[in-house]
Amino acid sequence: MSKILAGRYELLETVGAGGMAIVYKATDSLLGRTVAVKILREQFASDEGFVQRFRREAQSAASISHPNIVSVYDVGREDADFIVMEYVEGQTLKKYIRDKAPFPVKVAAEVARQVAEALAHAHSGGIIHRDIKPQNIIITADGRVKVTDFGIAHAVSADTLTQAGDIVGSVHYLSPEQAKGQATVCQSDLYSLGVILFEMLSGRLPFDGDSPYAIVMKHLNETPPSLSALNPEAGPELEKIVQRLLAKDIGRRYASAGELLTDLVRFMAGRALEWEDTEGPGGTKVHETIGSSALSGPRKSKRRKLIIRSAAAAAALALLIAAALGISALFRILYVPEVTVPDLANLTAEEAELALRDAGLTIGLNINYDFSDTVEKDRVMSQSVPAEEKVKEGRVIEITLSKGVPLIPLPDLKTDHPSLENAKIRLAQAGFPDEAVSVITEPSGTVAKNHVVNQDPVPGTEWPADGKITLWVSSGEAYVMTVMPDVLKLSSAEAKKILSANYFVVTVKTEKSDLYPPDAVISTDPAPARAIMQGGPVTLVVSLGPGPPV
Ligand code: ATP
Ligand code: MG
Repeated sequence: MSKILAGRYELLETVGAGGMAIVYKATDSLLGRTVAVKILREQFASDEGFVQRFRREAQSAASISHPNIVSVYDVGREDADFIVMEYVEGQTLKKYIRDKAPFPVKVAAEVARQVAEALAHAHSGGIIHRDIKPQNIIITADGRVKVTDFGIAHAVSADTLTQAGDIVGSVHYLSPEQAKGQATVCQSDLYSLGVILFEMLSGRLPFDGDSPYAIVMKHLNETPPSLSALNPEAGPELEKIVQRLLAKDIGRRYASAGELLTDLVRFMAGRALEWEDTEGPGGTKVHETIGSSALSGPRKSKRRKLIIRSAAAAAALALLIAAALGISALFRILYVPEVTVPDLANLTAEEAELALRDAGLTIGLNINYDFSDTVEKDRVMSQSVPAEEKVKEGRVIEITLSKGVPLIPLPDLKTDHPSLENAKIRLAQAGFPDEAVSVITEPSGTVAKNHVVNQDPVPGTEWPADGKITLWVSSGEAYVMTVMPDVLKLSSAEAKKILSANYFVVTVKTEKSDLYPPDAVISTDPAPARAIMQGGPVTLVVSLGPGPPV
């Protein structure tokens, strides 16, 4: 890839792709530093309203500078809109969760703390993230947590939600108020962080379901599962912090990221959080941190009462919300057009990425590899969703590339000189078919007739299962003294054929000659009729021409 944007950003390689954009590693040749360039996908480029919001939000994000926030350096347009950001070498929290969750509690708390630091800073500048999810959190090798995409989700208004396939992916982290299409507030980011903290501690999402609709309904109505039941190590403090983050009612959530920070830091310092148990209606215990509220001053608004709805009432309310929103926010969040998955068989990874992109789909970042007898090396041998299937636009399709034919270490057949028959059985057991073996018979003074004298390649070589294997097998005779045949004036091929009958090892030299036509044997060493051992070395001198005039 060699593409330069705005005369200075040289794109080096793709580092990731999301629903809206593709992210590249690039060099800013003007400042001589590595940057990340996020280029808006084509389907959004044509939506002028969207593009304007994208740019405005990127510009407002550019005003934030904080060690836990990925800095935005520049925005521009060349074919498509792009954002230039700080390049963060690391892995997304998504990948860490997939590989490692549940995390040790201290680790989970520390990641949450750094995200809370980022949120506290951005919120104080009036910027709400709106799309806090593990994909937007990158962790560097030295443990620094960096939040990306500040405010960019704002560009995705209800109008464009239908196109942004990945938005559906993030309903897992969507706050109830966002799900209802109400205004997003600072506490919406805290709710999303609560989902992430729950996920880091338990390895599970608090609300999951078969459809985005089912998930949204759970965000609106269901109490999250008990964290301590899923992971006893999580402990009551973190459980309570998560509960307060996941409160459905904004008023019951932490009032600010700063308040959350206070509790996280206390927890990490091993200091007990101060909790008060109050009786809510219906005897439900309501927990509040008085430690943190004392620090942030007395609450102005009266604590709102927790209302426990019956399941039936909850279901009725869900229906009401759905009906009231009708074609509006909720529906738009849930509705994403479907596309047909292309057939990627035998394509290269680059071709597969293009084919998926053309179809409105995204290639998975993790490419799997497997051996194949039928598919050429580095070509797609399988895809996570079969061709012709209908899926939501933006869906990630994983591919598996062929590593080619499996490599097998060759067994040792020359040390103990097995019979040819046994050698073939050993090869077959190792995975080499009979057809791969070719046999040359030669005399041997030491090895019995029909037993293996030598092999090529040597034992232990990692060899393709269908690769050619040569075995030299004893003819049962020993080499004897013989005389050098006369092959002068013959063609080199004829000469070699005659010499091979005595297993001579032939070396060919060439020289110009006016007497011998091209390819004719001029002389031999040893000379004809001299005594020589079978299997011994013979040198042929062959004419390069021009030969005698005709
Ligand atoms: P969405 O489209 O919903 O935002 P997403 O966050 O997964 O989903 P992108 O924001 O386009 O998609 O990012 C895609 C990937 O690129 C990220 O998952 C991350 O691995 C990588 N990435 C994003 N920003 C940077 C950056 N500044 N430095 C290094 N890698 C980045
Ligand atoms: Mg992102």
